[in-house]
Amino acid sequence: MKILVVNAGSSSLKYQLFDMDTEKVIVKGGCERIGIRGSKLTHKTDKGETDIEKDMPNHKVAMQLVLEALVHPEYGVIKSMSEIDAVGHRVLHSGGDFDGSVLLTDEVLAICKKNAELGPLHMPANILGIEACREVMPDTPMGLVFDTAFHSTMPPHAYMYAIDYDDYKNYKIRKYGFHGTSHKYVSQEAIKYLGGKAEGTKIVTCHLGGGSSVSAVKDGKCADTSMGFTPLAGVPMGTRSGDIDPAVLEFLAAKKNYSMLDCINYLNKQCGVAGVSGVSSDFRDLTKAAAEGNERAKLALDLFAYGVKKYIGSYAAAMNGLDCLVFTAGIGENTWQVRKAICEDMDFFGIKIDDKRNEEKNNGAIREITAKGSKVRVLVIPTNEELVIARETKELLGK
Ligand code: ADP
Repeated sequence: MKILVVNAGSSSLKYQLFDMDTEKVIVKGGCERIGIRGSKLTHKTDKGETDIEKDMPNHKVAMQLVLEALVHPEYGVIKSMSEIDAVGHRVLHSGGDFDGSVLLTDEVLAICKKNAELGPLHMPANILGIEACREVMPDTPMGLVFDTAFHSTMPPHAYMYAIDYDDYKNYKIRKYGFHGTSHKYVSQEAIKYLGGKAEGTKIVTCHLGGGSSVSAVKDGKCADTSMGFTPLAGVPMGTRSGDIDPAVLEFLAAKKNYSMLDCINYLNKQCGVAGVSGVSSDFRDLTKAAAEGNERAKLALDLFAYGVKKYIGSYAAAMNGLDCLVFTAGIGENTWQVRKAICEDMDFFGIKIDDKRNEEKNNGAIREITAKGSKVRVLVIPTNEELVIARETKELLGK
């Protein structure tokens, strides 16, 4: 069985084709600059990489080019599109309407469109990707896998904000959480690693990348997560502020003559470790600058680690304990300095890491960095969101 995973952004469309018998990736690639001059498709197989520079005025043209690349006589990997059994789409927001993945129908698409306002940066692009795919492969079943779904097990006292209950009901203003496929994947991998039984486990998963979020996973289910109504909440991120006193918005608007939208754009794009350091949102640049003595880069790193540390502590309190701490995504998997800073002075919680193991390079496998005598097991687990999407789509086909 072959499943194509599609992740559509506003000007990009990434894809991976999986052989589900082996769960191996046959080909991966992506279209960049859709709707912008200079669009390009990059297609990578075992044999090498092919770059195709072609105009892509919209997602439908991009999707057509992807399918042409997949069946191309030279660099293609399948003979015909009929070899693709299903497509799995990454979708940001379920709006609380789906608590798991679903097969695409007209009704499901209509619900996604209704929920687009909950994720204005991602949802319109996700929907364009789905529609483009449907047009070029109308008879292929499609699964939708939501970033929010794993968090649907949060209890009301975790997902509710302390606002007027009618506004929660009428406008669906609540915490949803994001990066769900990643938190799900790494927590399941951790459970397998720890012996296979989900019941009784208390895990905190730290997805630290361009965007970052921390989740409390109890008995294999999400109990709480740091992102909120939008992916702006929680720990500080590359360019996003994370949690901030909402009254700052009004103050900022007055000082800088900002509209509400300007304020949100500012918090999304000009803040985080990039804003604090003035150096970069990239942790490779930040750790280098900090090592060279740049005080603001050091401050940004400290602030980031402190933000994550506080969530770990609060989730240990929420779950009445902690067995395992998991680091994943670009920073979590690669930046040992950040893992070290987060785990420092956490012996009160029973967290101690082995410095030497922590500094070893990411090798794509699960690595345990727990120190001797640490009560909490600390794991570095490479995430694989695409594989989760492919697996869930396969499961939907079986239903
Ligand atoms: P996203 O997918 O959210 O854009 P990633 O999970 O790829 O983000 O994480 C990007 C972050 O990971 C960057 O800040 C980058 O500096 C950091 N990082 C550190 N080391 C590496 C590495 N070896 N490869 C990729 N990213 C790395």
